[in-house]
Amino acid sequence: MTIQNNLKKIYSELSDNISLVAVSKTRPVSDILEAYQAGQRVFGENKVQEMCDKQPESPNDIQWHLIGHLQRNKVKYIASFVELIHGVESLRLLKEIDKQAKKHNRVINCLFQIYIAEEETKFGLNEQELEEIINSEEFKQLENIKIVGFMGMATFTDDDDKIRKEFTYLKALFDKYQPLNKENLQLDTLSMGMSGDYRIAVECGSNMVRIGSNIFGSRA
Ligand SMILES: *Cc1c(COP(=O)(O)O)cnc(C)c1O
Repeated sequence: MTIQNNLKKIYSELSDNISLVAVSKTRPVSDILEAYQAGQRVFGENKVQEMCDKQPESPNDIQWHLIGHLQRNKVKYIASFVELIHGVESLRLLKEIDKQAKKHNRVINCLFQIYIAEEETKFGLNEQELEEIINSEEFKQLENIKIVGFMGMATFTDDDDKIRKEFTYLKALFDKYQPLNKENLQLDTLSMGMSGDYRIAVECGSNMVRIGSNIFGSRA
């Protein structure tokens, strides 16, 4: 029952316009089912293989979000069913997603991952790279992807002010690009906030939080 109680507690803190991605990475399907029974439908995985293993064993109305770094050669395994890809950070990857989506005659929703942390290990685009992609001819021709928002990960730190600064920057960038209204780019989703920092993220304007350990317990 713990998973259900944890979910209930988190939902009680989140207003209706904020969506919660239950990050089930490393967790067994039985945990996913427990959350599902509590009404949760959106789940996030960071590994293609793991998501592909769990998807056929789980209820088919689950919406699967790929939240981690995605390699181009693995896009084909998730293209038929993935609901949202959070970690897009290159035109090459986007072109591959577009190509695979076309094979399945669908449009795949994606988020640009923006680099906001100080940590070298984190992925993402800076504003200049973002501009270059959006303004490129190649991007304009992609018909089987749609950029629906931005995603960012703050520095892993106890310094709340630092986290707040990073999220505030991402929100400002989101607001700046939000008025753009292109065929394949219409921003409405701002994915920021994990177990340790989602309250700050929400204060800073997040409308999608990705929470794992606060729902399922800490990962070994
Ligand atoms: C693991 C992961 C999360 C969730 O992390 P928790 O701290 O367990 O909430 C969120 N986003 C990404 C990209 C992750 O890889």
